[in-house]
Amino acid sequence: MTQNFDYDLLVIGAGSGGVRAARKSAEFGARVAVIEEAALGGTCVNLGCIPKKLYVYASEYAAAWRDSAGFGWQSEGITFDWNTLRDNKSKEIARLNAIYERLLEAPGVEIIEGRGRLTGPQEVAVGDAHYCARKILLATGTWPVLPDIPGIELALTSNEIFDLPQLPERLLIVGGGYIATEFASIFSGLGSSVTQSYRGELFLRGFDHDLRVFLAEEMQKAGVDLRFNHHVTALQLDRSGAGIVAHFSDGEAAFDVVLFATGRRPNIAELGLEHTGVTLNDRGYIAVSSDFQTGEPTIYAVGDMTGGWELTPVAIGEAMAFAQTQFGGQPSRMDYDCIPTAVFSQPPIGTVGLTEEAATAAGHAVAVYESNFRPLKHTVSGSEQRTYMKLIVDQVSDRVLGAHMVGSDAGEICQGLGIALKLGATKADFDRTVGIHPTAAEEFVTMRTPRG
Ligand code: FAD
Ligand code: NDP
Repeated sequence: MTQNFDYDLLVIGAGSGGVRAARKSAEFGARVAVIEEAALGGTCVNLGCIPKKLYVYASEYAAAWRDSAGFGWQSEGITFDWNTLRDNKSKEIARLNAIYERLLEAPGVEIIEGRGRLTGPQEVAVGDAHYCARKILLATGTWPVLPDIPGIELALTSNEIFDLPQLPERLLIVGGGYIATEFASIFSGLGSSVTQSYRGELFLRGFDHDLRVFLAEEMQKAGVDLRFNHHVTALQLDRSGAGIVAHFSDGEAAFDVVLFATGRRPNIAELGLEHTGVTLNDRGYIAVSSDFQTGEPTIYAVGDMTGGWELTPVAIGEAMAFAQTQFGGQPSRMDYDCIPTAVFSQPPIGTVGLTEEAATAAGHAVAVYESNFRPLKHTVSGSEQRTYMKLIVDQVSDRVLGAHMVGSDAGEICQGLGIALKLGATKADFDRTVGIHPTAAEEFVTMRTPRG
């Protein structure tokens, strides 16, 4: 394609977005290299989705054992070994790292180990080595941020939480987003005593309000100590030096581990942006056009560092659109409409489309259908866990604008509903769909009366 450049495309960051962009561009015939300073696969594979979901699976067994008694199973004497979970998780990640290496090498992508630093619009340095490329793709993701309070150095982030030497007995989690809420459920399920402290009135800002209220009740029933309108003002070591005393707006308490999940910021420290025309948007993320072009015409950016939906399938979708447009001769754009997402809390949230609040704010006259029930399984298990489902329907067009759920398998169920919403399904389409009996999911096609 070119003679004067080392590569047609140089990608910085081999995470969800970078790997997909590098692979696809190479498959389209481009000469590609990817620079990675840590493990292949990025946040999702090494410090995010995958280890997190493995830990979610691990944490669900405790409730499953308890539930099994009503069905006749005897489950005394069962214990949990943290080291087994942690080490098996690490083995699985090592296996995935090797798969990512093969995925890159198969179409001929060169892997450069080290930290990439832009030295110009078409130049990148890694240590003393310099590379030039016709186009550069930034895909360096994000990194946790911690508030500046006394003793914050005693806190961990999600980066460290997976590899603790032992399961904490008392865990404080600060934050009310996806990460804080998922880890509160994980560690509570594994047997830790968990306090989740959130500065606002109700956690999971941006999700449907009814879901947030319902999940809070369910998590409290499951034993998580949820504190809202709550602030951690300082941390200090306790007298023994082994525990951490957290000072709150309303008192203090001692913990073995404190996890701050208070958001993430783009990984741009020492990336050399000042040698280019790349600019940041007003939220501090890389500003890009709908074709992922930055303020520097030869430099593009995808994934979390652009500050959109910080989800792996979105980073991958953006990378696909980038590769197809730039190297595949198939100009395409990422479609951000109706992106389904799940919070892997216990019970989990699954959601797609507009919340009731967003639909109303957008001017829709909405009919709301909801169902709040005790799943069949728990009539015998004795568990008090309930399930909640909600449909937001436009009263004029009858189109289903949003589908939301808190309950077992919510993520699995809402993936399918995502297709229906993408196709523009109406409430009448839902109504004429036959349910699968007996499932929880059938409730989504049997809700007949709107909320008054
Ligand atoms: P990343 O995957 O973060 O990759 C960036 C890569 O760039 C990293 O490997 C980094 O080492 C490298 N890098 C950074 N700077 C440089 C440099 N200068 N030189 C060389 N390399 C560099 N999403 C979901 O969809 N589902 C989930 O269940 C989910 N769970 C999550 C759980 C946690 C705890 C976290 C933190 C995130 C989770 N996410 C989840 C979000 C998901 O991980 C991200 O959306 C996704 O990884 C973004 O991909 P990316 O390519 O933008 O960046
Ligand atoms: P989020 O932005 O979702 O949540 C950050 C939380 O920290 C918010 O509750 C925020 O409060 C709070 N917070 C921010 N600053 C402070 C502060 N100074 N003091 C106290 N609290 C503070 O970030 P996460 O780190 O949880 O997750 C990052 C992204 O990763 C998510 O947005 C999501 O896109 C992705 N992710 C996806 C998952 C999935 O798909 N299942 C799982 C995990 C992560 P407030 O609401 O008041 O601003």
